Amino acid sequence: MKRILIVEDERNFARFIELELIHQGYAVTVVGTGQEGLETATRDAWDTILLDAMLPGLHGFEVCRRIRQAGFATPVIILTARDSVTDRVLGLDSGADDYLPKPFVIEELLARIRAVMRRSKRGAAEPQEAVTYRDLRIDPMTRTVSKAGALLDLTKREYELLLVLMNHKDRVLSRNMLLDLVWGYDCEVETNVVDVYVRYLRNKIDDPAQQRSYIQTVRGIGYVIRS
Ligand code: CA
Repeated sequence: MKRILIVEDERNFARFIELELIHQGYAVTVVGTGQEGLETATRDAWDTILLDAMLPGLHGFEVCRRIRQAGFATPVIILTARDSVTDRVLGLDSGADDYLPKPFVIEELLARIRAVMRRSKRGAAEPQEAVTYRDLRIDPMTRTVSKAGALLDLTKREYELLLVLMNHKDRVLSRNMLLDLVWGYDCEVETNVVDVYVRYLRNKIDDPAQQRSYIQTVRGIGYVIRS
């Protein structure tokens, strides 16, 4: 039986989701504060964690960051009433796998849960070979990126975005394709999240002295790394 941890301080809302998930055949545990969420998340093995953003004490984003810091790759979906690009970016940057603004329909939550579980299973598959481009080297085995031999400090999303672009060298990837490949869902999430992340990546990998960015913009379509 798949185990889901709900971290949510609104009791009625937590109870509603809990009942739906039990009805779907999941084993569910509910806790009501960020601190308890962090302790429970790192004490046990979970198949998915549903994490409310606005929690008393420790904020949901912070809980997620600390779960990742503790070395847990458990799929995390952040639930929040706030819905702006900045919040999405912050949420995803904290290491969350997905982000779902409230209110949502329960079917969408269920679909997202299935999707993150599928992806985490796929992530456990065979590690791939290292890929190089100019002086960049990305190594999926160690999940590291280096430039001219020096390690770069990339977030999870930045890493995945770069990996997808390098694995599809010379293919122009649209924003929607990148959303699908990196964020993993094809719903109505704002595609400018992709632009924000490409900007982050360029800031980390490009040389200020060089005219040509590693990642090229194809106007009106998306992005490409050309060999
Ligand atoms: Ca809350």
